[in-house]
Amino acid sequence: MNRSDPSEVLGCRLREVRERVAAACARAGRSPADVTLVAVTKTVSPATAQRVVDAGVFDLGENRPQELWRKAEALSGDVRWHMIGHLQRNKVARTLPLVTWIHSVDSIRLLQAIDEEAGKLGKNVSVLLEVNTSGEANKKGFAPAAVTTLADTIAGLKYVHVRGLMTMAALQDAEACRPSFAQLRTLRDELRDKLAAPHTFEHLSMGMSNDFDIAIEEGATFIRLGTFLVGGLEDGP
Ligand SMILES: *Cc1c(COP(=O)(O)O)cnc(C)c1O
Repeated sequence: MNRSDPSEVLGCRLREVRERVAAACARAGRSPADVTLVAVTKTVSPATAQRVVDAGVFDLGENRPQELWRKAEALSGDVRWHMIGHLQRNKVARTLPLVTWIHSVDSIRLLQAIDEEAGKLGKNVSVLLEVNTSGEANKKGFAPAAVTTLADTIAGLKYVHVRGLMTMAALQDAEACRPSFAQLRTLRDELRDKLAAPHTFEHLSMGMSNDFDIAIEEGATFIRLGTFLVGGLEDGP
């Protein structure tokens, strides 16, 4: 392999991700088809993000709305954009037409703002609710005890389809993240039992570069990888 060719490096990393996804699925008795890789491009330029698309990964995630707008404008190809970071309510109108998924709904007010804006567009929007499973004060998201009380609010939405939950585990040894992931699944199952279509709660967005194998074992349907895929790709010689 030519280690100075970013496309080759990326291809190699993608093969490794696919092998590890397949292995984790095998351990858990799951199908790899049920795990979608979201490439997180927040640390790289539009040109590097384009390489990811050209390598065949069409699900891209950004954690800042302005950066998502910038890259959505710059990239070509049928990219499905995933908003994975905090979305301010005054940025909902500009963001909604661009995104396929919002993983990071962290308040009832945001949920309702998205529903209202989606109504103006006449568009259904698929979202996930972010849950702070690690309890860290610097993390966004609903407290675990709060999220299960949202069933009535969710049932009242007109345009938003709540399709699951998202979490970020604490940065630590991967195995130590397992309880966070298991908790997210339990919360998801609880909400799924309380709600009906279109709020299908089939998704769990969990697992990053450091802990995605464990997240898949615990049921992740979206894994969000940044560093593992694009880390160092832009380093000069
Ligand atoms: C940056 C980020 C990721 C990717 O993290 P890595 O450890 O670089 O894979 C995933 N999810 C969210 C919400 C992020 O902000």
